[in-house]
Amino acid sequence: MLSFLEDLKENEEPLQDSDCCGNGCTNCILDNKPRPSNRVLLAGKRNVILSYTKFRLLGREELGSGPNGQLLLLHFAHAADEEDGERPGDTVLDIPPGHHVMLRVGCLLRPYSPYWSDFVAKEFRILVKLQPEGPMSRHLQAVQPDDLLEFRGPIGQYVHDPQPAKCIYIIAQGVAIAPTLPLVRQVLDNEEDMSRLWHLVCARDLQHVYFREEMLEFAQFWNYRSCLYLPHQQCDSSACQEAGHCAQQCPQLRDNLRYKETAKVSRLDAAELATHLNPAIPGQRVLIVAGDSSFQKIIAQIGTQSLDVDPANIYML
Ligand SMILES: Cc1cc2nc3c(=O)[nH]c(=O)nc-3n(C[C@H](O)[C@H](O)[C@H](O)COP(=O)(O)OP(=O)(O)OC[C@H]3O[C@@H](n4cnc5c(N)ncnc54)[C@H](O)[C@@H]3O)c2cc1C
Repeated sequence: MLSFLEDLKENEEPLQDSDCCGNGCTNCILDNKPRPSNRVLLAGKRNVILSYTKFRLLGREELGSGPNGQLLLLHFAHAADEEDGERPGDTVLDIPPGHHVMLRVGCLLRPYSPYWSDFVAKEFRILVKLQPEGPMSRHLQAVQPDDLLEFRGPIGQYVHDPQPAKCIYIIAQGVAIAPTLPLVRQVLDNEEDMSRLWHLVCARDLQHVYFREEMLEFAQFWNYRSCLYLPHQQCDSSACQEAGHCAQQCPQLRDNLRYKETAKVSRLDAAELATHLNPAIPGQRVLIVAGDSSFQKIIAQIGTQSLDVDPANIYML
């Protein structure tokens, strides 16, 4: 086992200050000491993404655009380097749930959080919100299938231990719902994991809730609950137009919700968060927050009290 770990170290490029993207990420690449996951140790194979490596764009899908920018779904596959002497079966792609990867284009670095990855096929997908005038957004807007891009990772510190069962609150803002999907799947795919999940998703309105199909699939499991918070939901009825948003009981909103979908026309504040406390359910409480830095800060603050979470069990993606 030791020689396998030594081999891994040798294959890793040492990190330098210039490897930091400078965005002040909660989990900075410079503080990252990726330990091989149990999956990698069991497979006894090298994780291809430990140093910058090339991935080929297999597909890109535009999810429409709005006043806040355009959304792209990008699907990448490891581009095997024929010169490195390694057979494709010698390596895997391990991006554990809750971890992100760094994209490097020249000296431009930006982190992205995969919402799906395949360990054996060495593929992953990201959802990208293009920022007007953003340098990496300009680059990603132009990428086309077959283009090669370089990624390194995995970066993060969240590790889920299914024993003992936990109460896991996952709170996501807008497109940042993407990296929360693997966290949910990790629990639901393990029949022996008795942890309970509360998936609380904050978006402007129903149109800005991504991955609704996936959430509906999750809702078939006994240990998954979700709630959408949509403060700007507005239908075209005269009452809702006048109020500036739908009423909680708006029939049009109810018609637009699918089976087992719950939505509130309000922000997720401390009082609302406390309604998900469920004090009778035993288990250590864990809070995971995905969103921009001000959202993370506010939710972490109110979560400590409203959900009775020990600050040591709060993770920012
Ligand atoms: C840990 C981590 C994971 C991330 N994962 C993803 C991901 O999966 N998908 C994704 O699209 N982006 C993600 N981001 C943001 C991403 O790294 C880039 O910042 C983004 O793509 C814009 O890059 P840019 O170079 O085009 O513009 P930048 O120069 O980075 O930004 C242009 C402008 O947009 C603002 N801005 C940047 N990002 C956001 C944002 N998320 N919300 C609101 N304003 C913003 C900046 O403050 C700036 O004013 C992540 C960021 C972090 C820290």
